[in-house]
Amino acid sequence: MECSNIEKFSVTAQDHARNPRNYGSLKDANGHARITGPCGDTVEIYLNVQKGKIKQASFTTDGCSPSLACGSMAACLAEGKRIEDVAALRQQDILHALGGLPMELEHCALLAADTLKAACEDYLAHSKGSQMGESDNGKNSCAACSDSECSASKRGENETEDEFEDRRKLQSRLCRIQHKVIVLSGKGGVGKSTVAVNLAVALMLLGNRVGLLDIDIHGPSVPTMLGLEGKMVHQCADGLFPVDMDGLKIMSIGFLLSNQDDAVIWRGPMKAGVIKQFLQDVTWGTLDYLIIDSPPGTGDEPLSVCQLIGKVDGAVIVTTPQKVAAVDVRKSITFCRKLQVPVLGVVENMSGFVCPKCGAVTQILRSGGGRKISEDMGAPFLGSIPLDPKIAEASDNGQAFVQHFASSATAEIMRDIAKPLLALRGHKKS
Ligand code: ADP
Repeated sequence: MECSNIEKFSVTAQDHARNPRNYGSLKDANGHARITGPCGDTVEIYLNVQKGKIKQASFTTDGCSPSLACGSMAACLAEGKRIEDVAALRQQDILHALGGLPMELEHCALLAADTLKAACEDYLAHSKGSQMGESDNGKNSCAACSDSECSASKRGENETEDEFEDRRKLQSRLCRIQHKVIVLSGKGGVGKSTVAVNLAVALMLLGNRVGLLDIDIHGPSVPTMLGLEGKMVHQCADGLFPVDMDGLKIMSIGFLLSNQDDAVIWRGPMKAGVIKQFLQDVTWGTLDYLIIDSPPGTGDEPLSVCQLIGKVDGAVIVTTPQKVAAVDVRKSITFCRKLQVPVLGVVENMSGFVCPKCGAVTQILRSGGGRKISEDMGAPFLGSIPLDPKIAEASDNGQAFVQHFASSATAEIMRDIAKPLLALRGHKKS
């Protein structure tokens, strides 16, 4: 099938496109994934993993020369390596190894990298599954943590087999996520998603494995804020593959709507269902943090997520400085206390204005409301983020502020706000 001008490829890419290595299925594969990309090409990858290393990797595709080159290079890069290292291979690694591809064809490398990663996840999920079974004391252990004390280690007295299986599936995802942190606000438009996105990116930039879950079903803004509109969520044998941005794993209802402008009209049980799916069916893998961007208020969504997770490690509450916001913060703190979610602290956003010319912060409106309410309620105060035109600019351009304006004073404030989250992992508080 000739659909690209192969002469424009590098010598290595031409070679892999003309003589794809490791083409075909593997009979004894113990890891496998098949993904159809937005361009309509399908790539399938087969792995034979022995003692944690990829003994053999092969691929097939219905795509033409760039898909052949990328699939072939992905399989070659995988062989002989440790499964964890292969799962971490990215689009850029494949492009680099091929000596580049014309820009309009680079998505083929993303498809090959995603499929390779999904095949690794498939292997890992099954190997964990096969390790499950009778443990020393005769009880089943959790697929993810092998802790015989894990709540998913045995069936509850009043639980049917199906209910147990369902709970076990959810729990084995959650057991691989070390810290779950929810970002709440009383009102919309106070900058909750901005804080959630920047906390997640700040933690990722410090080398943590981070997931960002946007459960704002009625107004998912995370895809827009990170320039990921139109990204597709792929299905693999093990579940839904989150969208990957430089290693940050992101899931949002926004990825599942065919049109960004679609309105979602769901009642409580349906919302709970989709949130459960986000936790249970998304292949989050092993994460240090899952940051959950909740819709404003203390309604169905934050309640469902807290109940499903069972133990949320902390909540960050975002507010604006005005007095009228205080009553909402009170409600959010009371909500956390009722559900036994530790309040990591209150963030006062849009506090003062950063002059775009000189960078000086002017208190154009009253400030200090966030600090006052956190003191009154006995909750830590995490910091004040000024109204900074660069935040709005970054968000409109689909860029993470803390990454693209990393040297700004406001980015420093955001990194400070992330410190209590780092402390959860025992990082130094400096
Ligand atoms: P919420 O999640 O509370 O509804 P968002 O985080 O979506 O609020 O923010 C609403 C809008 O305000 C976005 O366009 C965002 O870029 C902007 N914004 C949020 N915080 C700031 C800030 N400190 N300075 C400037 N713009 C901000």
